[in-house]
Amino acid sequence: MSPRPPGSRRGRRRLTACVLALTTALATVASPSTSASADEPCANGFVAISFDDGPSELTPDYVQALYDAGWVRATFFLTGAHALEYPEHVDLLAQYGHWIGNHSFSHPFLDELDSTDAFNELLGTNQILLSQTGVAPTLFRPPYGRTNAAIRAHATTLGMTEALWTADSYDYNGVTAEEIVDNALEVEPGGIILLHEGYETTLAAIPDIVSGLADRGICAGKIVPTTTPVEAWPGTYHYAEAAHW
Ligand SMILES: [Zn+2]
Repeated sequence: MSPRPPGSRRGRRRLTACVLALTTALATVASPSTSASADEPCANGFVAISFDDGPSELTPDYVQALYDAGWVRATFFLTGAHALEYPEHVDLLAQYGHWIGNHSFSHPFLDELDSTDAFNELLGTNQILLSQTGVAPTLFRPPYGRTNAAIRAHATTLGMTEALWTADSYDYNGVTAEEIVDNALEVEPGGIILLHEGYETTLAAIPDIVSGLADRGICAGKIVPTTTPVEAWPGTYHYAEAAHW
């Protein structure tokens, strides 16, 4: 299946209509009610849906799939190199209200770089994303989840919280869309699902991930800092969790 070319007329027109609708939707939810009803759709909390390694050729299709799934907002951890390659897709993510995080510049093993080089991977990407979106990233995810105290400190210096994940979809491992859905739905409330950009299988999994969460009374949320550590995987902790947008 060949993806719709970015910026094609058909895709652009649909997306423009979506942006107008988003403006209305955001205005509507600006004053959330504090009284929960019995049919409260997010009664069992929030999880964050996150996509690493973009932007990519498929970014417009991911944005469309999230919109079609009920205007779900997600967090996209972008590399500086890919942001330079697809600046219009960075714009698209921002227009749709998706959260944009820093995923280094060149996707190295940051823990194997010397400290200055690691810092510059983060700094350079922040400068690129700031210039493209007007907003400095507040979230950082180390490639491969490879991190240490020095890397976390670099993120903190640059005003970012390190956000790992608590449910790995293994979408980068050649698994089917069905397996991606099953792996993603292992997530617990408050957790963060790891997905990636650029895969048709991941794109195909988006509707069932969202509906599977909804069946459990869980909504897609944003990633926020915590004051107490959260175990991402055995022995590795971060200070991030999912919360209401
Ligand atoms: Zn990555």
